[in-house]
This record gives sequence, C-alpha cells and structure tokens, in this order.
Amino acid sequence: MRAVKLSSPSTLTLEDVDIPEPGPAEVRVKVAGAGLCHSDLHLVDLGDAWPAFGLTMGHEGAGIIDAVGVGVTSHSVGDAVLVNLVWSCGTCRACVEGRDNACEVTGGRDSFPSAPGLTADGAMAEYMIAPARHCLPLGGIDPVGAGPLTDAGLTPMRAINSVLDRLTPGATVVVIGIGGLGHVGLQILKAICGSRLIAVDQDPTKLAHAAELGADVTLEPGPETAARILAETGGYGADVIIDFVGVQATVDLAAASIAPEGKVRLVGLGGGAYPASAAIEAPWGVNIQRSYAGTRADLLQVLALAAQNKIKVEYTTYPIDDFQQAFDDLRAGKLRGRAILVP
Ligand code: NAD
Ligand code: ZN
Ligand code: ZN
Repeated sequence: MRAVKLSSPSTLTLEDVDIPEPGPAEVRVKVAGAGLCHSDLHLVDLGDAWPAFGLTMGHEGAGIIDAVGVGVTSHSVGDAVLVNLVWSCGTCRACVEGRDNACEVTGGRDSFPSAPGLTADGAMAEYMIAPARHCLPLGGIDPVGAGPLTDAGLTPMRAINSVLDRLTPGATVVVIGIGGLGHVGLQILKAICGSRLIAVDQDPTKLAHAAELGADVTLEPGPETAARILAETGGYGADVIIDFVGVQATVDLAAASIAPEGKVRLVGLGGGAYPASAAIEAPWGVNIQRSYAGTRADLLQVLALAAQNKIKVEYTTYPIDDFQQAFDDLRAGKLRGRAILVP
C-alpha cells in the first residue's frame, strides 16, 4: 500500500509498504480521508530535532474497519470510525480524572500522549492500525471529511470547554487564526454560546470566511488591533482569547487586549512567550493556559455537534499521490478549512 512517510529530516516521501496486520485489541482501518494539520508542517520544519523518522504521517484519520485483531468485540468489519488523536492509557490518574490528554503513561511531563502520525504510523496511507478503544463510531458522518474532527475539532473544543464560565451572552471572545482549527472553533462557539465573536487573521480571505461563519467583527493584526479590541469592549478587554497561531505578535496581542479575570488559551505552536507580569498595569486575575488536543469527553461532544450539522469541517481533497501539493498549499495559506488526502 502507499503511505506518506517522514523518511528523513524534512523529507516527505510516498512509499510502497506492506499492508499492516492488527494485533490483539487493535483494528485495521481502511482510510477514507486523512487531514493535514499545520503541526505536520512543524514536524517537517523541525528537521533532525524531530526524532521519529520512518513513521507514516497523519493524525487526523477516519475510515472503515476492514479487519479486527484478537479479542476485539467492540467493533466489527464495516464500521465507520474516527480515530482518536489521543491514545491515552485509560487507567492512570490523569486518565481516570478525565484529563486523558495529559496521560501520565503514554505521554508524561515533557511529551504528549501516544498519537498516530506522531508516535505510531498514522493515517496518510491506504490502511492504518489503531487501538480499538480509540476508534469512535461516526454514525452518519461522512468518513472522507471526518478525520479533522479528531484534532481541528477536538483541540478547539477543549480550549472552549476550559473557558465555559466566561462565555456568557454579553461577553466577547477573540479567535486568532481562522485556518483548520480556527474555522471549526468559531463554529463550536456559535453553536454553544451567545457571546460576541471577534476574528483576527492576517489573511483577508480567512477573515471573509470568519464573517461567513458568523464572526461579528473581523480584524487584521497590526499596531492598532489591541486598541480596536479594547474599543469594541468599552475599554474593558476580551473575556476570552483563543490563539491558534501563537507567534510573539499574537501572544502580545492577547496580553494587550485580555480583560481582568479573562482567559487566554494558547493553542498555536508559534513559539511566542506570554508576558506574564506582576506589573501594576497588568489586568488582575488573567488565567493563561497552554492547551493540548482534548479529552475523550470533548471528542464525544465534537461528534455530537457534527452529527447535528452544527459544525462542519470545510475541506479540499487531494489524491494521496498529490500529497506534496497539499502540503505546499497548506504552507502557502491557500486552504479554506482543511486539506484531506484521499488514498
Ligand atoms: P492553519 O495553517 O490551517 O491556520 C493558521 C491560520 O493562522 C491561517 O488562517 C493563517 O492565515 C493565520 N495566521 C498565521 N500567522 C498569523 C499571524 N501572525 N497573525 C494572524 N493570523 C495568522 O493551521 P492549523 O492547522 O489550524 O493549526 C494552527 C496552529 O495550532 C499550528 O501552530 C498547529 O501546529 C497548532 N496545533 C496545536 C494543537 C494543540 O493541541 N495545541 C493541535 C493542533 C494544531
Ligand atoms: Zn494537529
Ligand atoms: Zn493515562
């Protein structure tokens, strides 16, 4: 079968490999579609700082089960499933406390839980192997476009669930970066709260997309943007800011426009540092959190919203042979929503 591999530092290749066999408690999924995440570009850009060469890429996979391993009774051949991004152990203290995205056993302090395409062969292939436990039924959701629900849906869902108490009607939420994650994040916010939404993106076409999705105000980043957000909120600041970019400029924008007691969620891996400060002029009570992926409970909520057509991943499909074009288009910022490789 064909598989997109990170074969050596910064090099993606399409290789012909054996079709894998599921082990005990595993299933084999015939991949219907695999999403490209900006994190995949970060992996390529890490060069030899990324240790896992030879793995098949892709952490946003969905498809149809075509073989089950010994002992699997929960799933059958023919089931349409979404493969969870977070392969947590399910039994450690973090997992049983419902923080499985911080699993102590498969992740740990300096890492993230096991994940397809990151620590195991992933979804950019004709078939993938996954633990049966981490395959969630798709019901009527089309498997071709469902893969991004496990990251571009799950990751915003976690960030949003961690700020629910501030999402009151009358509150203002700023979403920075309306790409794969941001366009689903905006839809989740529209579906679950009555707060006012401000979208920020450097690309005017992404801002037009945000307006279509229901953003009340759209802003390009620049020297006046923090002042614009303050003006939109009577000088008080935004109650919630979710940064899906995370470069220094966007993190600084968050710091300059968050309200007292406001909540900042840093999701994008742009390497920016939040200027946490005890200075007298900093607003009191600001709560800042780096946010990684999401919990199984979050993922069930994402699937419920998708099943009700309240959120929809927008995507462009590429045949797996054209994987390099898909990566190039993602890097060039040409995509609306996500790119999906179809094996
Ligand atoms: P994407 O490329 O689809 O979208 C990024 C968006 O940000 C684009 O619309 C782009 O125009 C905009 N943008 C880029 N630089 C900007 C700037 N300086 N100011 C304003 N807007 C800017 O990316 P994605 O797949 O949505 O991923 C977003 C980020 O989240 C990436 O860094 C990715 O690695 C990270 N990520 C983190 C997690 C997590 O668990 N923390 C999970 C998935 C992805
Ligand atoms: Zn990702
Ligand atoms: Zn665990």
